[in-house]
Amino acid sequence: MKKCKDFCDRLSDYLDKELGENECILIEEHLDNCGPCSLIFEGLKTTVLVCSKGISDEVPEEVRARLKQFLRNNCRTD
Ligand SMILES: [Zn+2]
Repeated sequence: MKKCKDFCDRLSDYLDKELGENECILIEEHLDNCGPCSLIFEGLKTTVLVCSKGISDEVPEEVRARLKQFLRNNCRTD
């Protein structure tokens, strides 16, 4: 079974729509069942939506970095 950290690493790819359908479903299921990850995702999504309005259609590096930091602080790795 995958860990939060694995999902966290993929959230930005998910938002970039770089994942296949199966992986998207796995992530969506995890988000439904994991409070910390869903909070992260909501925050990231909002940021990405703002950023994508004309500036960039990719998740900014800064957001990725902040996401990883947040995950390190909040997700169990074991
Ligand atoms: Zn999680």
